[in-house]
Amino acid sequence: MSETSTTGDPRHPAGDPSVFLVPAEGDTPTAATRRTGAEGVDEGVGLTALLVAAARAIETHRHDSLAQDVYAEHFVRAAPACADWPVCIQQVPDGDDNPLWGRFARYFGLRTRVLDDFVRRSVGTGARQVVLLGAGLDTRAFRLDLPSDCVVFEVDRSGVLAFKERVLTDLAADPKSKRVPVPVDLRADWVTALTSVGFDPAAPSVWLAEGLLFYLPGPAETYLIDTVDRLTTVGSALAFEAKLEKDLLAYRDSPVYTATREQIGIDLLDLFDRGPRPDSVGDLAARGWSTSMHTPFDFTRLQGRGPLPEPNDALEGNRWVFAHKPRS
Ligand code: SAM
Repeated sequence: MSETSTTGDPRHPAGDPSVFLVPAEGDTPTAATRRTGAEGVDEGVGLTALLVAAARAIETHRHDSLAQDVYAEHFVRAAPACADWPVCIQQVPDGDDNPLWGRFARYFGLRTRVLDDFVRRSVGTGARQVVLLGAGLDTRAFRLDLPSDCVVFEVDRSGVLAFKERVLTDLAADPKSKRVPVPVDLRADWVTALTSVGFDPAAPSVWLAEGLLFYLPGPAETYLIDTVDRLTTVGSALAFEAKLEKDLLAYRDSPVYTATREQIGIDLLDLFDRGPRPDSVGDLAARGWSTSMHTPFDFTRLQGRGPLPEPNDALEGNRWVFAHKPRS
């Protein structure tokens, strides 16, 4: 597997939340907050949580599935916005040839598996707090056999978490570890929201930002990375997904983006923040974290299934980053 290690290059100072705080009621929303300001799962960035849930449902029903999420299809079926979306590949007329429900969904299935393994490994070395940033409809608290003293903090906006709660309550779903929803906007100062519900910065923790950072303004990402560093002790770990491309619009007519736009009306490029990105891998390395960066295709080869590179590939610049705060 190819691996890129990084050295420190702190080109971006710690984020100051006052420069990207979400507007108070009555304020005029900026373009960025208009694009990502919808609160629930019916539209805007919240709807992307359902896209990933549908992909996980499809993955779950595959005979060679990489990850099992029995809750995923219930989210899809409960939301009017996606009443006609498939929850298994047999419901897709062109099956695996469909760029959205075939290749892209398999991408999400692979990502789920890789990050499941990351959480399991991190908990295996002692972390008992799991923080899911932009948790969406992630059900790791229900799916993974985490130690019973583990606490899973699910950070997302209130509308997304309210929908999730409704569906899980209707299913009488029982989490395998303690689960704490943290309704807050990650463009605001979210530290108090997390620490006031029991997160302990003095104990090791594992953090995921899965499918999140590219929706946030650059300063909010810088603030997030700085905050994770401040709230973590040695033995902690963080995994996140990044996009390397300098010009996101270069892949506007790629099969993945085109199919997502035309088949389910989600224009991912319109939801992504198009401002300059911080060098989060460099920032972590400068703070003493060990980091490694992989392409999703590395894991496809490792697992024997998943997406491989193709021409005009919107997934080409995607990277999965794994960072650890060393013990010494
Ligand atoms: N991590 C989940 C997964 O992989 O299933 C969800 C990924 S979904 C593509 C992106 C998630 O990020 C959504 O649930 C959305 O509500 C959340 N999100 C985006 N911007 C956010 C913000 N400013 N504050 C809190 N959550 C945000």
